[in-house]
Amino acid sequence: MTTKRIVLHFPQRLVDKPIVYKLIKDFALQFNILKAYVTPQEEGLMVLELKGKDEDYQKGIEYLQSSGVKIQPLSEDIIRNEIKCTDCGVCVPICPTQALVVDPITRKVHFYDNKCIACELCVKICPTHAMELHF
Ligand code: SF4
Ligand code: SF4
Repeated sequence: MTTKRIVLHFPQRLVDKPIVYKLIKDFALQFNILKAYVTPQEEGLMVLELKGKDEDYQKGIEYLQSSGVKIQPLSEDIIRNEIKCTDCGVCVPICPTQALVVDPITRKVHFYDNKCIACELCVKICPTHAMELHF
C-alpha cells in the first residue's frame, strides 16, 4: 500500500476535466483533497493525499503524467521566521497560491500557511532567508 501527499499542477486546458475522478474509477485509489486553487494564471493546483495498492498508485501517477498533469511530492512544510522577515514584499508576486499577501493598510506581509503548497519559490528568493523549509 502506498500513501503520499502530492501537489498536482493542471494546465489551463485540464482545469475543468474530471481527471481526479478517474483515479477512483479506473485505478481504485482513495484521495483526500487538502487544498485546491486556480492561480491568477489559471493553472489549477491541488494538494492531495493519495492512497492505494502500490501497483494501482503507480498506474494512477502514470495516467496523471500522460494527461499533462505535473506532479510534485509534498514532503515538507514552509514556515516563516517572523524575526527575520522585514516585510519587503519580494516574495508576494512569485507565490502561485497567494499565500503571501501585502496588507493594503499596514503594508505588512501576511503568510497564510493553509494556502501554501511548499513550492519553495519564496525560500529561494527571500533576501533574509525568512522562509524556511522543514521536513
Ligand atoms: S521576501 Fe522574505 S523578508 Fe521579504 S516579505 Fe517575503 S518573507 Fe519577508
Ligand atoms: S512555498 Fe512560498 S511561494 Fe510557494 S506556495 Fe508556499 S508561500 Fe507561496
